[in-house]
Amino acid sequence: MKIYDCIFLDRDGTINFDPGYIKNIDEFKLYSYAIDALRKLSLITKSFCIVSNQSGVSRGIINIDELNKIHEYIKLTFKKHNINLIDILIATDHPDKEPSSRRKPGIGMFIEAKSVYEIKLKDSLMIGDSYTDIEPGRVIGMESMLVLSGIGNLSLKKFKNNLWPNYIVNNLSEGADLLCKEKLEY
Ligand SMILES: [Mg+2]
Repeated sequence: MKIYDCIFLDRDGTINFDPGYIKNIDEFKLYSYAIDALRKLSLITKSFCIVSNQSGVSRGIINIDELNKIHEYIKLTFKKHNINLIDILIATDHPDKEPSSRRKPGIGMFIEAKSVYEIKLKDSLMIGDSYTDIEPGRVIGMESMLVLSGIGNLSLKKFKNNLWPNYIVNNLSEGADLLCKEKLEY
């Protein structure tokens, strides 16, 4: 049975609704299936790490203290359900102002997770709803899963030739079912 070293998770459109630039905790809502799906995925991974582009900070739309409150809420919720979240990494760079490699599709946040938490990236999986979530997975050599929640359907148009994700599913719940079936039942 294959156990991932880490499942990297995009945030908006993957584990929670994405109305665009979530500014405070009142606007943050996990998908109803998210916790159950993550608990199921816990069977096939040692850990989770959220990697999220939050350009709203550099755009002056999102206040960093409010963002931290949202992330404290996520950490507490995951902990309450025994979901081993090691960190929430964010890239606040503005996409039009020479963003650093931290901003996805750059691989900076993944490299940071590798060096701080000794994650084996090649034994990890990235799950997200955007082309920019899948591309770093391909560059690093991680498996990748596109969820069609959030902007997933729009993202489908951006994949060409052999650059497709390993898995495409309707949402995180379906992804958890598929992976657990594949990894636990053979
Ligand atoms: Mg997203």
